[in-house]
Amino acid sequence: MKSGIHPNYNKVVVHCTSCGNEFESGSVLKEIKVDTCSNCHPFYTGRQRFAQAQGRIEKFNRKYGNK
Ligand SMILES: [Zn+2]
Repeated sequence: MKSGIHPNYNKVVVHCTSCGNEFESGSVLKEIKVDTCSNCHPFYTGRQRFAQAQGRIEKFNRKYGNK
């Protein structure tokens, strides 16, 4: 590699703001924050965690008569 033109590639701790999970990764950034990670994403957990969103759909159906 040519020296002086590449950013420093470091080990960083990635912090998930949804579940508080932390894991190591590599990046040129000093720290990384993510909304969701493999620990809490429904695709990996197999669970739907947006219970509030489901409640809104039911509320909508009740209000606008989708029986
Ligand atoms: Zn997470």
